[in-house]
Amino acid sequence: MSPDPSRPRPPQPGPAVTHAAKEAIQLEVALLAASPEVRAAFNWFRTNESQLLHWQMEMARIAAPPFSESARAAWLAERFREVALEDVRIDDVGNVFGTHPGLGRRYVSLSAHIDTVFPANTPLNIRQQGSRIYGPGVSDNGAGVAAMLGIAALLGSVRIRHALPFVFIGNVGEEGEGDLRGMRHIFSTPRWKDSIGYSLVLDGAGADTIVAEALGSRRFEVIVRGPGGHSWSDFGAPNPIVILAKAIDTFAATTVPASPKTTFNIGVIRGGTSVNSIPESASMKVDIRSTSMTEMERLEQSLRQALTRAVEDETLAAEMRSSAQKRPKASCEVVVIGNRPAGELSSGARILEIVRAVDTQLGNVAQVQRASTDANVPLSMGREAIAIGGGGSGGGAHTLQEWFDSNGRELGLKRILLTMLALAGVGE
Ligand SMILES: [Zn+2]
Repeated sequence: MSPDPSRPRPPQPGPAVTHAAKEAIQLEVALLAASPEVRAAFNWFRTNESQLLHWQMEMARIAAPPFSESARAAWLAERFREVALEDVRIDDVGNVFGTHPGLGRRYVSLSAHIDTVFPANTPLNIRQQGSRIYGPGVSDNGAGVAAMLGIAALLGSVRIRHALPFVFIGNVGEEGEGDLRGMRHIFSTPRWKDSIGYSLVLDGAGADTIVAEALGSRRFEVIVRGPGGHSWSDFGAPNPIVILAKAIDTFAATTVPASPKTTFNIGVIRGGTSVNSIPESASMKVDIRSTSMTEMERLEQSLRQALTRAVEDETLAAEMRSSAQKRPKASCEVVVIGNRPAGELSSGARILEIVRAVDTQLGNVAQVQRASTDANVPLSMGREAIAIGGGGSGGGAHTLQEWFDSNGRELGLKRILLTMLALAGVGE
């Protein structure tokens, strides 16, 4: 998960949910929590912690760099079978599925990404000290996968009624250049696209956040090319560095709204050969972010316009400089190198009301946040989705010093279970 630390959002109760409806949800959650089967489940969480920690370490020892998650997927499919999930399968892109039956055709999905940011040759020195484990990926997303497995294993050992069926998903491609490819595939597959009613995404440790806003991003590499030449004898030829500079100057003047917060950045600029050469090419990398698709599209438009204008201006200027001669023109290429859709939960969405009621029931305090997670995909399609943590605590994500502490994992597991059961409704 890539959080946006800029502004924790105060809870905003939606107008769509009436006070009476909120009370009904709160009561439903209280009844669930008091039921003998859920109490048995809570007890199961308490007595099976060592198994979860064992799975978490075992998984972290299997490398899962972006686009090479298959060994870990095979391991997870084995665990899904072991805990008696049904219809266990791995799809075309490497996502792992297992279901727990219910009534009706709409699923409540519980997913956790299985990929890490670490390249294949990273030493996976995973070690334990009491309740703490250390090593790359133990928390992001070891905590998420362990919690998902914990819930699946629980359902295999304790009979708990629920109406809607559950689908458990270990998905690929959340981190970096993976660009949410696992989730995208799921939500473009007929089998799942319309049958997943609610998506609960587990990413990292903790129980103190609710990601209900999907921070989208579009990233570009811009390459400007020209004929190049000698700085003295070819003077006048269009200069890619000048074009890039002009385009940046225009683009950087684009106004962006404070709300929905929208940002842009020129992160890398490269180009040129030597001080006495007219460069043949120059390039830059641009990052655009917002929770609004419209704002991201508007900024992209503004970037493309700035580039077109800069190419035209410099081509014209080059013609003026070198009167008679016909020169090859400059050109510009824009390559999309990252694309994460934006979106947010509609106010009063049932999934948000339920997780809030669950937090009230458990005496847990959580803040609604904006981040980039697997939930971006369903959220951008207007679906009900949130991302939360798998419980316990963790730190050092995306570093070799990553750690996870299982103290307090129970709270996270209770929170996930109650949310799933309330979303699914009580079955026969
Ligand atoms: Zn993550």
